[in-house]
Amino acid sequence: MTDDALFVSMVCSSTRLPAVIRFRWDGECYVATAGSKQRPGSVVPPQHGNGSINGSFSLGAAYPGCVYCGADNFVRCGRCRELGCHDHSWEVFNCPRCGNSGRVDGTIDSLSGLGSS
Ligand SMILES: [Zn+2]
Ligand SMILES: [Zn+2]
Repeated sequence: MTDDALFVSMVCSSTRLPAVIRFRWDGECYVATAGSKQRPGSVVPPQHGNGSINGSFSLGAAYPGCVYCGADNFVRCGRCRELGCHDHSWEVFNCPRCGNSGRVDGTIDSLSGLGSS
């Protein structure tokens, strides 16, 4: 069985607690469909290999937002390449993992596009 769901770990920028975003492949891009709290000790399946995710990403209309603070979007840190939640009303993204901060340009449509390579 080919499972077209992709799970990517995310850290809430407000609470610094771990969460998992579920993406669904719709034939053109990965669409975020749900978020859930990551249970302590659980590990996200390493489906995305060494951190590079190929393909475009978008928010599904059903995406309910960050499970902790309700932020309606997320960005990928250009330094540590991890996802952090981000609300469209926040002008600056502060990475909950490495402390990197910076302005967010538009909305994310490619996780890999925010990488530094
Ligand atoms: Zn959050
Ligand atoms: Zn970072």
